[in-house]
Amino acid sequence: MGNARMNHTKVGGQYPFLKKGGEMGELIRAKNWANTLVGPIDDWPQSLKTALSILLHSKFPKFLFWGPDLICFYNDAFRPSLGKDGKHPAMLGEKGEDYWGEIWHIIKPLIDQVLTDGEATWSEDQLIPIYRNGAIENVYWTFSYSPISDETNTVAGVWVTCIETTQNILSKQKLEDSKDQLHFAVEAAKLGTWDYQPQTNVFRANKRLQQWFNLPGPDVDPNIAYQMVDEPDRDRVRKAIEWSMQYESGGEYDITYKIIRLDSDEKRTIRAIGRSWFNENKEVYRFNGILQDVTDQVLAEKENKLLSTIVAQSNEFIGMASPDNYVKYLNPAAMKMLGWDDYKNRKIEECVYPEDLPKAKKLIKKLLKQDYFSQEMRFLNEKTGEPFWLQWNGISIRDEKTNKISGLATTSPNIEEHKHAEAQLREAFSKVEESEKRFRKVADHAPVLIMMTDDEGKIRFVNKLWIDFIGTSLKQYLGSDTLKNMHPEDEDAYNFICTPAFARKEEYRVEYRVRRFDGNYRWISEIGVPRFTEDGHFEGYINAAMDIHDIKMQEHQKDLFIGMASHELKTPVTSIKGYTQVLKARYEESEDELLKNSLEIIDKQIRVLTSLISDLLDLSKMKTGGLELNMEIFDLNELIKNIVQEITLINPEFEIKFSEGKGKNVFADRERIGQVLINLLNNAVKYSPRSRRIEIESAFTAKKVKVNVRDYGIGINKENQKKIFNRFFREEGKDETTFPGFGIGLYITSDIIKKHNGTIGVNSTKGEGSDFYFTLPLQQPKT
Ligand code: ADP
Repeated sequence: MGNARMNHTKVGGQYPFLKKGGEMGELIRAKNWANTLVGPIDDWPQSLKTALSILLHSKFPKFLFWGPDLICFYNDAFRPSLGKDGKHPAMLGEKGEDYWGEIWHIIKPLIDQVLTDGEATWSEDQLIPIYRNGAIENVYWTFSYSPISDETNTVAGVWVTCIETTQNILSKQKLEDSKDQLHFAVEAAKLGTWDYQPQTNVFRANKRLQQWFNLPGPDVDPNIAYQMVDEPDRDRVRKAIEWSMQYESGGEYDITYKIIRLDSDEKRTIRAIGRSWFNENKEVYRFNGILQDVTDQVLAEKENKLLSTIVAQSNEFIGMASPDNYVKYLNPAAMKMLGWDDYKNRKIEECVYPEDLPKAKKLIKKLLKQDYFSQEMRFLNEKTGEPFWLQWNGISIRDEKTNKISGLATTSPNIEEHKHAEAQLREAFSKVEESEKRFRKVADHAPVLIMMTDDEGKIRFVNKLWIDFIGTSLKQYLGSDTLKNMHPEDEDAYNFICTPAFARKEEYRVEYRVRRFDGNYRWISEIGVPRFTEDGHFEGYINAAMDIHDIKMQEHQKDLFIGMASHELKTPVTSIKGYTQVLKARYEESEDELLKNSLEIIDKQIRVLTSLISDLLDLSKMKTGGLELNMEIFDLNELIKNIVQEITLINPEFEIKFSEGKGKNVFADRERIGQVLINLLNNAVKYSPRSRRIEIESAFTAKKVKVNVRDYGIGINKENQKKIFNRFFREEGKDETTFPGFGIGLYITSDIIKKHNGTIGVNSTKGEGSDFYFTLPLQQPKT
């Protein structure tokens, strides 16, 4: 130790190669080299000292392996690479192998190479992990190993000139990493990128952008890209770019426009975000950025907008709430219905009319288990304090992934009006019920038999008089089709009239016999009137009937009498008629005018009397069903001509014009059809006090013949036109009383035509004349 100290002082002034050798120079000087493999400094060869002088004075990191033991020397510049608690300073003057154990297998071959070949090596950015700072660290080096010769010109050591490039490499790696990340982001977001250098006018685009804009390569003239912008947007894009490249804009560039993408059928919407970069002269030197295809986004946004417009415009109550019942949205209609100004921090329960709240709460709770409910519910208008009715539809919205309820929603129509209408309907119903009660009361006291049926013909009401009349309880009839007490013989006649009337929902009249409480059958006359609701819906019939039994019996007596009387009258009248003819023939040449006139008048009156008697006879025959037809084929036109001639002979003052139709033969009772024609023509004459014109016409079609008898006489009132075919009907009025008659001619006429399966009718205007017609089917007899 004393030796060392002595050496030290000695060394201080002696070793100029260590002078200004920095910290390492001091350490070398201070170290006791006597016990080391290289021995005391004084014994060191000059070549080592020279090498150390260069090493210590270099600002470049240097290391030296000296001698066969590869003793370590290094300078201050190298020190930082050894870190804090590591090899420094113990390594100085020690065997390389002892201190570089962790990398010896890497560097030993290099050292050997230099020692044996005498040639330098070069390694760049090589990873050589070393122990420093208390751990093995990844350290990158760029280094060269070169030989150092001694005085004998043999290689005695290896120079290591090195720079630690760890920082460089790491920042390079970081740069690569961030480049990778950027690339990843650009790819993941499917972005197009561009970079434009105004000086060179080169527009650089990434692959995607090249594809979108159909560019021939990465570097193009910007105009090529510009051409792919949709024409209507082009000008706008150009202006935006120009503005961005002006210093005043701050370089901002953000624009959405359409491009024509060749790989897509439709135009695509693109959003471009970028910026321009300016140098200190405020000149733009770069303009770059990204492009994103936002077509789907724009469409979705549009759809979204549309949807929200619909929701906002809807007059339904639309709203959304959080799973804990806080209102998150209400459309304007809902706000108006509720009379709310704001829905923040308010709960669903506050919408509900207090009376309905317990029910509402249950429903909301249910929604957590089931996904839907629909219930009529009263909500509250806060401003008026009035309730309003909603068809409250609740929906729970679930998260697609977790299936947990993420919200509650409602779209509920306001059914206030509907409810109102319902109430009105109920009221109307009770009114109807009321009026029905009143009707039954009146009906029960009416002196007519009243019955009501429903639209299926089932008896729904029978008044008290009916019940009394039949003598059984009401219950027996309610719901049944008809009264069970009808005379079996009248059923066919009843159905003949009523079935078609029911089918057409028309009014009908019918006479039939009903067994009374005392077991006697009584004739009743019934009228049935269909009932309709205000909107025309068929509801059934109301029937009113009267006991006409006594009248019917009297009529029967009368018929019997007429039959008998006319029969008894026929013989004497025929004989009077015969004698009158004889007298007329005898005194035709006489000059006694009074006698001749008297005979003429008697003859005329006898004719009237005969026709009257024959009418009466027909009438009673009809009553007893004795009016039978003798069918034959005959020429109808011929018959008409004969009858016209006959009538003209008796009424020479009338001009009867016959328009003969094409065709002639009919199959009918010649006599009876003659009677019909005479009847119609006689009436035409009788009821034409002033006019002298009568027209008769026949018209044949394939199926029937139609005969019209037209006069220009007094005409018939509209309401009587149907009735004149009834028995004993005569129009009453000043005119009619002046015309003699009983009102049975048309009755018989129509009966004859009906028996022929023909039709009969009249068109007439009061005061202008009448047009009677009948038709006969042109049916050929079966041979
Ligand atoms: P009457 O014997 O009364 O003529 P009808 O049965 O022939 O009996 O006619 C019935 C009623 O029809 C007549 O009373 C008359 O009021 C009316 N009538 C018939 N034919 C005509 C006609 N051509 N013009 C006007 N009224 C007529």
